[in-house]
Amino acid sequence: MDRGDSRAYTTRMSVRTRFAPSPTGYLHVGGARTALFNWLFARRMGGSFILRVEDTDEARNTDEARQAIFDGMSWLGLDWDEGPAKGGDYGPYFQSERREIYDAWFQKLLEAGRVYEDGGAWRFRFERKPVTMHDLVCGEVTIDYRDESNTPDMVVKRSDGSYVFHFVNVVDDLEMEISHVIRGEDHLMNTPKHLQLIEAFGGKAPQYAHIPLILNPDGSKMSKRDAGAAVGDYPRQGFLPSAVVNFIALLGWSSKTDEEIFTPEELIGRFTLDNVNRAPARFDFEKCKWVNQQHLLKVAADDFAAASKPFVEAAGLAIPENFAAIAAAVKEKVRLLGEVPAAVDFLIGDGYSHDEEAVAKVRANAAAKELLGVLAGSFGSIDDWSADAAKAALNEVAKAAGAKPGPLMFPLRVALSGRGHGPDIGDILNLLGKDRCAARVRKFADML
Ligand code: GLU
Repeated sequence: MDRGDSRAYTTRMSVRTRFAPSPTGYLHVGGARTALFNWLFARRMGGSFILRVEDTDEARNTDEARQAIFDGMSWLGLDWDEGPAKGGDYGPYFQSERREIYDAWFQKLLEAGRVYEDGGAWRFRFERKPVTMHDLVCGEVTIDYRDESNTPDMVVKRSDGSYVFHFVNVVDDLEMEISHVIRGEDHLMNTPKHLQLIEAFGGKAPQYAHIPLILNPDGSKMSKRDAGAAVGDYPRQGFLPSAVVNFIALLGWSSKTDEEIFTPEELIGRFTLDNVNRAPARFDFEKCKWVNQQHLLKVAADDFAAASKPFVEAAGLAIPENFAAIAAAVKEKVRLLGEVPAAVDFLIGDGYSHDEEAVAKVRANAAAKELLGVLAGSFGSIDDWSADAAKAALNEVAKAAGAKPGPLMFPLRVALSGRGHGPDIGDILNLLGKDRCAARVRKFADML
């Protein structure tokens, strides 16, 4: 405690935020959002961002559970200035290693006569008065402690000697000189209890900002099983960390402009607690994919190809020499890197499948079979293959048959790719080359 007092004068004014997760085995998107808001605020204010692991529940706290938090935060790029693996002047940063500190602070309460034994446990004596907090997001919140039946004195130390969440959380925020506590609204009603403890310690309360709950689009509470709930699932689906950071920022914060797409640096430049919404946030996983697409559009073509490669390989496709060009052709068509394999399979190998619906549409065009048959032949006789030359051949074939070239485009696309949608037809013609185009059109015409 002396340590804290001597430091107080030099550091009191600086912003210190913390993310204080309880390890559960995975990083929930709600936790990631809390971490992000604390990180953004600290970075914006030139302060420090601290990671404190609230691992007092021994049964649940495995190394894997802690690792899931570190991995999730590292992937998102939420680097901490103090905490596990980083150290700092206010450690240890695992609550499981802070037992002596808690004992010393408990002693303070004991000496001040603020705790009493009750069946082996220790209760904290609330001051019987109304306690008002000024939350930076939620405004004024008052809990009236005069009515003891509603607000019984709280247990701070259990009969097994362990300390409860409220106690260790408050001690650590004071010990670590946290200036701003930014956390989920589920803790709003805990805060007057925390203020009572802080007052009993004679400490300086941090400022509080409780950020809105995250709900599913149907208004239900988000659960562990909902798609998109676990940050650890995002990398393998092909989300970019910058996009997920952007999407998570929008869960409860807005720029108050029409703009929604931001890099992490742009978020740091714009983030204020004033712009945190009061209303619950809606978690829309489809929007997350859209945000990812907007970020993919800004990625350089080479980087997109490099990032796509592992996904294509994992799908069992061999990377061809012209992969960079193939990737470029689908860059604007996918929302996730995980969608790249299915978008490029027909440009790599011949084992792709045919979409029944697209084929049926082609069959509905009575002239398609014959015209494609002729087109296969004329593709084969092009000397200098290019998309333009191929399109000119198609125009010729249509014209000779007294047909319009436009309606032949769809059958050609299905012939070359097996599906009705995909990259620009010119890109497909170029990427497949003459022989494969001629062969596929021939085969498809025969199949019709
Ligand atoms: N360990 C608590 C939780 O995960 C921390 C709450 C807080 O940020 O104060 O909910």
